[in-house]
Amino acid sequence: MRKLASFYACFLDEGKNEQYQRMKDYIEVDEWKIIERGFNPQYNKISESIFSLGNGRMGQRANFEEAYSGPTLQGNYVAGVYYPDKTRVGWWKNGYPEYFAKVINAANWIGIDICIDGEPIDLAKNRVDYFKRELNMKEGYLKRNFEVGAGTTRVEAEVTRFCSIVDDEAGAICYKFRPTGAEPHIICTVAPYIDGDVRNQDANYDEKFWDEVKKATWDDGGFVQMRTKKTGFEVATGMRCVVLVDGKPVDFKPEPVTKDKYLGCEYKLYVPDASEVTIYKYAANVSSQNYPADQLEEILKETLSRIAEKGFDVMKAEQADAWAKKWKHNDIIITGDPAVQQAIRFNIFQLNQTYTGQDDRLNIGPKGFTGEKYGGSTYWDTEAYCVPFYLATAKQQVTRNLLLYRYKQLGKAIDNAKLLGFKDGAALYPMVTMDGTECHNEWEITFEEIHRNGAIAYAIYNYVRYTGDEAYLSDYGLEVLIAIARFWSQRVNWSAEKQQYVILGVTGPNEYENNVNNNWYTNKQAIWCMQYAMDAAEAVKGADAAKYTALAAKINFREAEETARFKDIIDKMYFPYEKTHQVFLQQDGYLDKEQILVKDLAASERPINQKWSWDRILRSCFIKQADVLHGLYFFEDQYDIETIRRNFDFYEPRTVHESSLSPCVHAILAAKLGDEARAYELYLRTARLDLDDYNNDTEDGCHITSMAGTWMAVVEGFGGMRVSDGKLSFRPFLPGKWQSFSFHIGFRGALLNIRVSKDGVQIKNLSGSETVVMIYDKEQLVKANDELLVEA
Ligand code: BGC
Repeated sequence: MRKLASFYACFLDEGKNEQYQRMKDYIEVDEWKIIERGFNPQYNKISESIFSLGNGRMGQRANFEEAYSGPTLQGNYVAGVYYPDKTRVGWWKNGYPEYFAKVINAANWIGIDICIDGEPIDLAKNRVDYFKRELNMKEGYLKRNFEVGAGTTRVEAEVTRFCSIVDDEAGAICYKFRPTGAEPHIICTVAPYIDGDVRNQDANYDEKFWDEVKKATWDDGGFVQMRTKKTGFEVATGMRCVVLVDGKPVDFKPEPVTKDKYLGCEYKLYVPDASEVTIYKYAANVSSQNYPADQLEEILKETLSRIAEKGFDVMKAEQADAWAKKWKHNDIIITGDPAVQQAIRFNIFQLNQTYTGQDDRLNIGPKGFTGEKYGGSTYWDTEAYCVPFYLATAKQQVTRNLLLYRYKQLGKAIDNAKLLGFKDGAALYPMVTMDGTECHNEWEITFEEIHRNGAIAYAIYNYVRYTGDEAYLSDYGLEVLIAIARFWSQRVNWSAEKQQYVILGVTGPNEYENNVNNNWYTNKQAIWCMQYAMDAAEAVKGADAAKYTALAAKINFREAEETARFKDIIDKMYFPYEKTHQVFLQQDGYLDKEQILVKDLAASERPINQKWSWDRILRSCFIKQADVLHGLYFFEDQYDIETIRRNFDFYEPRTVHESSLSPCVHAILAAKLGDEARAYELYLRTARLDLDDYNNDTEDGCHITSMAGTWMAVVEGFGGMRVSDGKLSFRPFLPGKWQSFSFHIGFRGALLNIRVSKDGVQIKNLSGSETVVMIYDKEQLVKANDELLVEA
């Protein structure tokens, strides 16, 4: 068994940061599996997050099937099914949203209570003699083996379960156990159940969010249909079960058990000592998002019959095939660094479990289906971090659906801006949302973290640049871009003193500064959005003048007048600049702060968000996450390398990276600057963030959106991948410890495998048409189904 004691040795040696010393190292290193060997109840909630399962439509934390009375956070989620939890704030401010929409804990479909000779299996109470749990990322299932004892009775168990990515409303469990005791026969009670009586730990008023609509039991299972309060989503959750003793199905009907919002079926078994008992539990969730509520029961029954007929083994084999197909398109292989190999696969696996892109009403919450924090809602993380990942690793439609999600919410973004006093079709997208309505309720973020509008525009640019799908602009993109540009044009104000436009009272990506004036990143985004909206308008006009005219009429776009204002603002926008260091200043007055570097902060003071009062954080120069540097990452083409270097050298030492979204951006810039060691060091901070509980918060859920940042650090950082002029280009380097790394990239119909090793860069074209890529600025033609090597 390999542990990670030395994984962060470089940081520990420097003694720089106590966060590194807090990391857990109980997860075994394995290239395709996440393995916990030996029971660690103190880490159970962390493991519940790490070993989570999902299929884009539903997901769950890795809770145990049988009863567990130790610390646990129960979590089963159905994508898009949310509840508007009434806002709770200290002091109400006009403009605050009434509620925070949360993807809520839904009916527990995994439960199977087991009693042996009257004693429940409960790993918190039993003596645990053996325990191993593994998440098989290659084939997409979770498996747990354990042996427990109580008195003279012992039970050996093996439990396997998955959320099917083939039947994405379904999941299946195979629970096998073998009891041994002092007597020739043992009484086992096996009770699979569906429990809709669940609550959210983060409920603002300790309310329960579901009412029961109906339930029923069948000979081999049953269902419960629940309705969310206020939003009225109905979800029918059901099960069908098969119980076998030594391979033979039992020949009696179970006793039905019904309680409020709960149904189960109890099998009383009188089995010979050391018999093997097997329970197959087939479960499904069907929701009124997709079917009429009054048909859910029927549809659920059909779904359950279909999967029960297939049977567990067929479902599991289909699951493995489906995952194999996914891995073919998105695996990253790293040789020479198994811990990092495991981590990148884990990140890719979790991203694919969270979002499959089949439904443009769904999005990617920062914790996916792995916890309650952030409410499962959509943040700018999607556009700024996840879009590059899905663009390169999934079908074009997947990212398109992410963009359409925002397009469909444009009306609400316009209403949101109106509420804050903007007009004429200006749109401010929410910082946090489920259905387009703003949910965040801290003034410094809700009203001030307006840079999110920029990320949404940038994602459109990224998508069109990557895919070449210009039609998206005329069909949807331009409408969003103009609404965003209008917002910026109204949000700026003219400073008579400076004789320039300024943007006052904002919070940049660095949330450790609030209500600042002229955040460089925000000002930059503002003018870029206005310019891009104008460029996109020209492109649409050129491609389809009639469509352009129709759109302009629909949104009352007064082109001459509005673009004149955009241009004036672009020409006369103020950007804070610091002459001594020759850097873009994060905001007005940043240099008035006492300039201390992170390296001079005592380890005991970190993370500052847990150790310092908020006012102290605000007064300090410490930067939570990439801010100016995020701007330089987005708009790198506009700056020469020395400018990027000066800003990096200035800001990186002041950045505490207390958002998981931060180090990946710095890693990409460090790679661009040729600082390979720094790039690798920054990458390590993101790679195993959850596996090692680096931020001491994995128990709340995994950092799903920052996992996309880890992917970016490999592909855009070490791989140096960029897209320009409709071509892919690469400027890779091999991190010191690695023997090679390779990744798959889908680009405009071509599927490429790029492998970087000491020999050079090998490009395999796995598709049927030739493609041209740039390697270290030199054009290379790769024929269909062919490969070439650019020597080192
Ligand atoms: C970060 C935000 C991010 C949010 C959700 C915060 O800690 O500062 O940029 O959107 O987490 O991931």
